[in-house]
Amino acid sequence: MKRLFLLLLAGCLMTACSEKPAEPQVVAHRGYWKTEGSAQNSIASILNAGRIAAYGSEFDVNLTCDGALVVNHDFTYHGLKIYENTLADLRCDTLRLSNGEIIPTLDEYLEASKQYPEMKLVFELKSEGDPQYEAVALPACVEAITRMGVADRVEFISFSLSACKEFARLMPKNVVEYLGGEIAPAELQKMGITGIDYEYNVFYEHPEWIGEAHKLGMVVNTWTVNKEEDMRKLLELGVDQITTNEPELAQRVIKEFSGK
Ligand code: MG
Repeated sequence: MKRLFLLLLAGCLMTACSEKPAEPQVVAHRGYWKTEGSAQNSIASILNAGRIAAYGSEFDVNLTCDGALVVNHDFTYHGLKIYENTLADLRCDTLRLSNGEIIPTLDEYLEASKQYPEMKLVFELKSEGDPQYEAVALPACVEAITRMGVADRVEFISFSLSACKEFARLMPKNVVEYLGGEIAPAELQKMGITGIDYEYNVFYEHPEWIGEAHKLGMVVNTWTVNKEEDMRKLLELGVDQITTNEPELAQRVIKEFSGK
């Protein structure tokens, strides 16, 4: 009986730990791309993030006109509007990322991520809030994540409030963080959104939003924090996650901060 109780207690503690890490965490912004042979949102970048054991790797997802999902930051790729081109157009022989890779499909990206199954997938849907676009893109994202068996590792982010609300409805077990920076946590929580991921200057203006979010059980992430001085300030303010182009620097700063 005592053993059963201890097992149950251990299980509860593990669950609690997996839901909200005690120590602040590092998210590699567009993967870890500031290394030889890497490029933003490339397969190499997500593998690099895994290699340094980043908590999460962030990437950007766009929809093509023939319904394919590709990983790319901008709405355009080599001057082609992604939503107005087919997957084949974007993957023709002449177009390459700066490291020589072909633009990755979401499936390829998620498949590569399986080499590091502990790493969170910080999934940004690029959207300007067009309802017709989101009506196709969101179900396609959810279908891909589910089919690829990585749903439990995904944390959604988006500048589109409607996309955040819909991800929260479709995937209620996943963290969903709004990127916009202009809405207080309590307002977002009423919409079912479970986190904030704001540009770091927002937290210098509204440091109270961090505590407010935590009281509501929400996750606090911040971007894109590349200087040690800002990392330290944000850790003092109490953020849970730092999204950065300098993930190894952030790991060192957090280690020093947590060792206080
Ligand atoms: Mg992004």
